[in-house]
Amino acid sequence: MKSFTKQSLGFFPTPLVKLDRLSAALGGPSIYMKRDDLTGLALGGNKTRKLEYILGDALSKGADTIITAGAAQSNHCRQTAAAAASLGLQCHLVLGGDQPDADNGNLLLDKLFNAQIHWAGTHRKGEDIPKIVEQCKQAGKKPYVVPYGGSNELGAVAYIEAMKELATQHRLDAFSHIIFASSSGGTHAGLMIGNKWCGSSCQILGINIDKGEAGELPFEQQVLKLANSTAQFVGLDYQFSAQDVQLNDDYVGEGYGVIGDLEREAISLTAQTQGILLDPVYTGRAMGGLIDMIRQGKFKSSDNVLFWHTGGAPALFAYAKELS
Ligand SMILES: *Cc1c(COP(=O)(O)O)cnc(C)c1O
Repeated sequence: MKSFTKQSLGFFPTPLVKLDRLSAALGGPSIYMKRDDLTGLALGGNKTRKLEYILGDALSKGADTIITAGAAQSNHCRQTAAAAASLGLQCHLVLGGDQPDADNGNLLLDKLFNAQIHWAGTHRKGEDIPKIVEQCKQAGKKPYVVPYGGSNELGAVAYIEAMKELATQHRLDAFSHIIFASSSGGTHAGLMIGNKWCGSSCQILGINIDKGEAGELPFEQQVLKLANSTAQFVGLDYQFSAQDVQLNDDYVGEGYGVIGDLEREAISLTAQTQGILLDPVYTGRAMGGLIDMIRQGKFKSSDNVLFWHTGGAPALFAYAKELS
């Protein structure tokens, strides 16, 4: 497998912990947690790993300005803004929706990192980026676009490497399942490749977070496409097919960022039994899915399930009303 230059941005390896009190409260399988909420860059999260590779590429190309997009409470945008600040690069964020009355959660942090915010209304997936690239070029800047969610081949490489990191902490085959929130696909694609590369047969099960939009490629197919293009990119002769992508769509509820009882219960149960914070949009929903699957008897008590914590807790504050 090819290796790629990266720019160090976080602290690795992230801890691997066992959640005995949560397992006991659910009467379920053993639950382990990979703490990528503790990647160390500006309150952490899975985008830190991806940005090490993507911004490594940006720097090698002489970029001085980073542009990316996301939701108003995007963890990806917050980590990108922090990374750019740490490297002395300018950062433009194209955020979906309209400017809120008050800055909170990730948006507050974006501003502390001096990111320039562009409100994009219904264009929440970066449709307005080309316009901003053009403006930067005209101002004599060298812009570099980080894709939505950091989910291109380089971003996925970070999660191949993350799987190798996990393999140094625990025997992978001991895990029956690795469960995580999946939304732009880079984490999912990287974990699939890393799992295969490590010769492990544990199930890589993404919990879908977002309903997707009409006209978009179905999310399973986006993950499949990225997994195959990333394998090729790193020089591995892997060909995944549709049934290799395990994605659970049961918990998208009312859609992206709409908080319900599922998320509320998962967040409070994990906080109360383990003292660990989940986030309302991603990990709260994914843990809610895991809790529901445990209650439905989908796991054996002898199973070891790994929940990959992908971060996001800064958004808790922006959802205070829905959570209290
Ligand atoms: C971005 C994000 C995810 C989803 O990861 P993808 O690689 O985009 O699928 C999950 N959890 C959190 C907290 C995130 O910020």
